[in-house]
Amino acid sequence: MQKAIKLLDNLTINKIAAGEVVEGPQSVVKELIENAIDAGATSIIVEIKEGGQKFIRVTDNGGGIHEEDVETAFMRHATSKIQYLEDLNVTLTLGFRGEALASIAAVSQIQMVTKPKEQLHGISLDIVAGNVTNKKQVGAPDGTTIIVKNLFFNTPARLKFMKTPQSDTTKIGEIMSRLALSQPHIAFKYINNNNVMFTTSGTNRLDQTILSILDKALFKSLIAMRAAKKGIELDGYISQPSYVRGNRNYEIVFVNGRYVKSKFLYRSIEEAYREKLPINKFPVCILNLKIDPSLVDINVHPTKTEIKFHDEEILYEVIYDSITSALSKNTLVPKLSLHS
Ligand code: ADP
Ligand code: MG
Repeated sequence: MQKAIKLLDNLTINKIAAGEVVEGPQSVVKELIENAIDAGATSIIVEIKEGGQKFIRVTDNGGGIHEEDVETAFMRHATSKIQYLEDLNVTLTLGFRGEALASIAAVSQIQMVTKPKEQLHGISLDIVAGNVTNKKQVGAPDGTTIIVKNLFFNTPARLKFMKTPQSDTTKIGEIMSRLALSQPHIAFKYINNNNVMFTTSGTNRLDQTILSILDKALFKSLIAMRAAKKGIELDGYISQPSYVRGNRNYEIVFVNGRYVKSKFLYRSIEEAYREKLPINKFPVCILNLKIDPSLVDINVHPTKTEIKFHDEEILYEVIYDSITSALSKNTLVPKLSLHS
């Protein structure tokens, strides 16, 4: 006989959703930083321990969360960023699904301290496996600090499949560098097991940000490029064909400030390098693509790194033409910013 059909309880729903949103500690880091960026922070400090499995702390100086909203922020489908799906046509925030905090909270132990500028006191909130265990007023600087401890402690199946801290650290390093490169106007500091891995100046210079994060040999081979065509703007840096990598990891493209992975974008870039690169070698690029948000769909997957473009043909043309032309001009980045 069929069992009765019942609605799942909230914690179970959130734990199931966490399976999609929280692939591992790197997803927590990504979601917390994206929230800090959306909150208008100009400084973001990220500290992890043991690959983020035991400890992740993200501190920002952004807008903070009002006292009456702190618990709502951790509810599923609760967001201050959109009201209707159509809002995505004009929305440029990185978050909009309102599920990151609820999902993370369902599978970890969270401590948050937050204070909006206009509020005199901060609020400290503790959540264990989705349940608020403590809430009180505290003195705090403007902004938000969230600590996530013991990820997946209450989901044994996920815990069992946890990668080594080493491999999670590598993934977090990649996410960190991409997010910092996507926001050169924000000063980032990334600390791993008490070692400062990098800091960026937040002076809105992409070349300096690249130099703070990626290696100098790469920096020396970068060509600056900028193009605006058919309502699409593309600017950033691409590597000379003499500098190659063995994989696509450094074909970094931000669409309206969001790091995305897109086979279509990789193809457009690589076609422009065709015949200039040996087989199975890949270029490096750090490119910002600005396009009318109504011409892209970012709501393809819960992690929001996939994207669909309404008109790939025009985009291909813009990317291909501007990279080919930059490669032929070969204007190297001014060496001024290279110290030592
Ligand atoms: P989303 O980012 O999709 O809105 P989240 O679950 O990540 O969903 O966050 C829920 C809400 O909590 C956000 O819409 C925002 O209002 C608030 N919030 C989360 N993190 C921060 C932060 N660091 N600073 C200010 N507000 C925040
Ligand atoms: Mg978010």
